[in-house]
This record gives sequence, structure tokens and C-alpha cells, in this order.
Amino acid sequence: MPDTLYLVIPCYNEQEVLPETARRLTDKLGGMIASGAISPQSRVLLVDDGSKDATWSLIEQLHAQNPLFSGLKLAHNRGHQNALIAGLMTAKEHCDMSISMDADLQDDVDAIDRFVAAYYDGCDVVYGVRSSRAKDTVFKRSTAVGYYKFLKLMGVEIVENHADYRLMSRRALEALSEYHEVNLFLRGIVPLIGFKSTVVTYERSERFAGESKYPLKKMLAFAIDGITSFSVKPIRFITFLGVLIFGVSILSLLWFLFLKLFGRTVTGWATLMGSIWALGGVQLLCLGVIGEYVGKLYQEAKHRPRFVAEKILNDTDTK
Ligand code: UDP
Ligand code: MG
Repeated sequence: MPDTLYLVIPCYNEQEVLPETARRLTDKLGGMIASGAISPQSRVLLVDDGSKDATWSLIEQLHAQNPLFSGLKLAHNRGHQNALIAGLMTAKEHCDMSISMDADLQDDVDAIDRFVAAYYDGCDVVYGVRSSRAKDTVFKRSTAVGYYKFLKLMGVEIVENHADYRLMSRRALEALSEYHEVNLFLRGIVPLIGFKSTVVTYERSERFAGESKYPLKKMLAFAIDGITSFSVKPIRFITFLGVLIFGVSILSLLWFLFLKLFGRTVTGWATLMGSIWALGGVQLLCLGVIGEYVGKLYQEAKHRPRFVAEKILNDTDTK
């Protein structure tokens, strides 16, 4: 008996893409089940992340028409990462391996075969890595490249150009379930788990319908999470800056004393004002960075659930 695959797909207001996505996945998984690559118990788990459109009723319809489709409805919109973890933790109870992907078919469905082959080769984690960013806007491409560089500099270990298209074995999911953080940045956590992993490259296409559900504001919040959830280097940098500025102020004090003693006092109003503003700015920035971490601690300390499941449609047994 081949192993059971669960495809986990977070969906937020995806009514435009769901029918086509479902068609493509029915073909794909149907073929894989027929060829004996995966078990007939395999499912597509569609996670409705508190959508405001017809997404959930579409999922209900799909489930009624074809048992291949399962559904999980979250009570609120909790964002992509939380929707993903909700789906993965649900899938963990039923599957041998899971693959997470986006609803908009940007991730190449045909790479699934290679993911599964790597799994049978003994990999617990398979990262889908985009082969090029040619189809991205110049803005997205350059910010992404800069961001990955910055993460590396901060000591965050991630797989470059890998989003959330990823296979995880049941064992890897069990390990993931031990990470209880609320500020989720899955691409940072998964490499921490360890286990044997590999990379599968694929061509990422454009979203074929609907709009991106990731406006700049969400993207920025996500980017900041990626840094502050994994690195204390920004705080260290502040300490370093403090020491440096203190050193400079001692030196300048000596210099001013020297000037005073030799009677060449300067009426440097501009310099004075300049340094007050510069120091004020640095202090505010530092407070901001520290505040970011304190805010994180506050959220983690509350131990709130990452998602609340409202309904689940699934007819397979738990393992
Ligand atoms: N998504 C979600 N909750 C959100 C925002 C997005 O579940 O609050 C899902 C969305 O439905 C999609 C995936 O996350 O399946 C990635 O979103 P999108 O394709 O809009 O992001 P982009 O590809 O533009 O970065
Ligand atoms: Mg997308």
C-alpha cells in the first residue's frame, strides 16, 4: 500500500481560483492514485482562512462531489502562516506526508511527483525552490533578494527562494507541532527541525485569477516576523551602537577640553543641534527595535491558540 499524501492549501477569498485549482488537482492526484504513487486515502485539504466570499461554500460543494477534497474552516482570518499550520496539524492526524501550496496555482502542480519521489527516497522535508524570479515585478524581485541577504546577515537559516511550497513527512510534522510560537515564520522553523531534506526546483508562474492576498502591509509584517522571531542580532547591534556612541562622546569631550585650554572655543550651534537630532533619532530607533521584541514576548507569553477551527469536512480515519 503506498503512503497517504495530504495537500494543504490555505484559501483566503479564493472563489475565483478554486474551481480551476480543484480541476487541476483532481487530475494530478487522481493520476497519482491510479498509478499507485500515493494511496487512495490521499486528500486535498482546503483551509478556509475566514474568507468573506463564497470560498467555504465552494469547498463544501467540492467535498460533496468528490471525497478527494477535505475542508477545514477557521473561525477568523488569521493569516497565511496560521492557516497553514492549522491545515498541517489537521493533516498530521491522517497522512504519511503533507505538501503545502498556495491556492492560486503559482506553485507548479507537476513538481508534486518529484516531491513524492524524494519522500520515498527517504527525505523528511522537501523544499520547493523557484528557479527564477523573472515573472516578479522589479520591486518584488529586488526587495526579496535584499531581504534574503539581510536574513543571512542576521544569522537566520533559510532556504533561499523557497516560499511555502514544501513536503513534510509525518515525522517532520510531529516535530513541527512541538514549536509553539505564535509569531509563525514557517520557512525559518522548518530548517531548525533537521531530518534529511532536499530541494526540488520549479518554475513559479503568475496568479491566474484574483488578486494577491498579500498587500504590502501584510508582507512587511511577515518580513519583520522573519527577522525578530529568529535573531537577537538587532538588539545586539543596539548595544554595540550605544558603546560606539559613548566612545565617540568621550573622545569629543577630550577634544573640546583641548580647544578650551588652548583658548580656541567654537560657537558650533549647528553641530550641537545636529548631534542632538541624530542622537534623538538613534535612541528612538533603538527603542523601536527593543519594543518590537518586547511586543513579541508579550504575544508569546499569552499562549493564545494560533487558530480556532470551526468546521471540518473529512471522511478518512485518523492514523
Ligand atoms: N492566504 C491566507 N490568508 C491570508 C492571506 C493569504 O490563507 O490572510 C493564502 C491565499 O489564499 C493563498 C496563499 O495564502 O493561497 C498565498 O497568498 P497570495 O497568493 O495572495 O500571496 P502572493 O503569492 O501574492 O505572495
Ligand atoms: Mg500567490
